Amino acid sequence: MVIGILSVQGAFIEHEEIFKELGADTIQLRQKKDLDRHFDRLVLPGGESTVQGKLLKDLGMFNILKEKIEEGMPVLGTCAGLILLAENISNDTRSYFKTLPVTVKRNAYGRQLGSFHYDGDIKGLGVFPMEFIRAPYIENISGDVEVLSQVNGKTTAVKYKKQLGLSFHPELCGDYRIHKMFMEI
Ligand code: GLN
Repeated sequence: MVIGILSVQGAFIEHEEIFKELGADTIQLRQKKDLDRHFDRLVLPGGESTVQGKLLKDLGMFNILKEKIEEGMPVLGTCAGLILLAENISNDTRSYFKTLPVTVKRNAYGRQLGSFHYDGDIKGLGVFPMEFIRAPYIENISGDVEVLSQVNGKTTAVKYKKQLGLSFHPELCGDYRIHKMFMEI
């Protein structure tokens, strides 16, 4: 299994280390020619969605990756990665891949108190340590989207077909169960 990790900005190294430890091969996707290499799965890390979205377009990577997701390549989007996948962003006029039929709110917990830890339940996994960093939450989902976790009544993890979208950063908590779950999709 080869996992392609978007590596133009943000917390991509942490994902890479975890997947390697779990026995997967990884490649960093930094420029258009990296997309010619073989990979089976895609990771969109946390960081700054506006910067990542702009770089994806400027580097000519956006349409190729969108097509791969639409064709069914499993994708894990964490935090900014979730924002890139979302069909709508309620507090921003921009949108990116639009492959995940949810509406997200960026920086939904406010900028000052935006970072916190929460031990919350994830469907199928049980209690999981969640790191939120200027995180979005999911305001609305459409019919087929499965809710995997909610924190204080707000949806923070969803699954839709082969797309996994998380508000928080599972790569920063030392618990690899979400990465394992993604490898099994
Ligand atoms: N606030 C960032 C954004 O809007 C996301 C933060 C993160 O990925 N930790 O893109």
